[in-house]
Amino acid sequence: MNLTGRIKPKYNPTPTKREKAYHIWLTNLPCVCGCGGQATVVHHPLQRHPEQRWRRDHEFVTPMTAHCHNKVHAKGSDTLAADAAWLRQRGIAAGML
Ligand SMILES: [Zn+2]
Ligand SMILES: [Zn+2]
Repeated sequence: MNLTGRIKPKYNPTPTKREKAYHIWLTNLPCVCGCGGQATVVHHPLQRHPEQRWRRDHEFVTPMTAHCHNKVHAKGSDTLAADAAWLRQRGIAAGML
């Protein structure tokens, strides 16, 4: 019996130290939209992903420029969940998560 798979930690609206470090690590990457700009913020995708634990899962974020981030929220939708899942796997592989 896999007990770990059944335990869902409680959602914390404030990112943990580890999650914050992951966010900083992500902002070293270019904006996820492909504009080539340097990311300065992380975005919680509005689109859901099956591996996502909560709507604002701090392990499910994408690096963005402030400008592109504002555009996504003005639009009210995105297709960034798969990017966030891929980046999360990279974060796990790098020992960040
Ligand atoms: Zn962009
Ligand atoms: Zn956002």
